[in-house]
Amino acid sequence: MLVNNSDPIYYWEAPSVDEIGATIEEFLKQLTAPTWIYIPGRDHSRCRAITTLLHGNEPSGLHAIHAWLRSGDQPETDLYFCIASVKTAQHPPGFFYRMLPDCRDLNRCFRPPYKDSEGVLAANILRRLCAVQPEAVLDIHNTSGSGPSFAVVTNTDRRHKALASLFTQHLIITDLKLGAIMEFEEGGFPVTTIECGGCHDPHAHQLATEGLRRFALKQNLFDYHSINAEMVLYKHPLRVEMIEGSEIAYADHPIDGPDLTLHSDVEHFNFGEAPANSVLGWLGPRGINCLTARDSMGSEHIEHYFDVHDNQLLTRQPLRLFMVTKNPSIALSDCLFYLVPVDDCHRHQSR
Ligand SMILES: [Zn+2]
Repeated sequence: MLVNNSDPIYYWEAPSVDEIGATIEEFLKQLTAPTWIYIPGRDHSRCRAITTLLHGNEPSGLHAIHAWLRSGDQPETDLYFCIASVKTAQHPPGFFYRMLPDCRDLNRCFRPPYKDSEGVLAANILRRLCAVQPEAVLDIHNTSGSGPSFAVVTNTDRRHKALASLFTQHLIITDLKLGAIMEFEEGGFPVTTIECGGCHDPHAHQLATEGLRRFALKQNLFDYHSINAEMVLYKHPLRVEMIEGSEIAYADHPIDGPDLTLHSDVEHFNFGEAPANSVLGWLGPRGINCLTARDSMGSEHIEHYFDVHDNQLLTRQPLRLFMVTKNPSIALSDCLFYLVPVDDCHRHQSR
């Protein structure tokens, strides 16, 4: 049951094109709090929703919403946009903080208890979504490091795959429970997370903008042809994390002191397979014990996938890595990256 605290979300009904700032920076300045925007569609009997800026440093979804609002086009169904971490995104230097210092990661707050201000905001977003019963929800993000686009779902039914297909042909299926909005199933509507690529990548903004247009304009989101036949499925990636209190560095040579030095070009593993014996970096005095990779049952897998030679951290088998980041605070507070064994990547069998 969701708590019913006072609603911290600002409501903006059917803004006209003239009301929307010409640039994304002006648009962001117009917002004063988490904002819920309503756009009437041709068919009022149905609606669709987009959440974005759950993380303040991930602007592609806001670019897409801004472009849609400036177009003045009418969507097929009613649309709701939820722009969440407005203050975080506005905090100088702008689009810099994932969450503000001493705040929780909002996309880890979509589960009880809904106690602190992030929890109350998460609960209010869920309550609004449940109230309008959208036929689909997209949650648009960027990856922290640079990398290709992909979608993340907790359910592989036709609806989730069709929503992913509006943006990308890479689909990650996970049963890890972190408190992300896509885990919310009680509403009865599908929630698909879209990772558009790197925060600073103009292609990511373009992908979000084009995908949002398809989402807004398609008459039927879930028809027979709505699933990309080229879709590649990555099942149940493991989160590779550092244990609490660890230190990390990035360099092209081992550094004395930190528990892990990741290679300075480690982000390139986001773009394809890491063959067996790839060097990801160098371990400190604690060796591989500073790393952990637990599945949803709590079993540890780190030594199954990684090896140590001298102090080098090596892959034991071909791996597909996602969300490799060079942002040390995100690497320590969230995770280093996600991995799937290459043998477990499957082409979608659509017909
Ligand atoms: Zn994010």
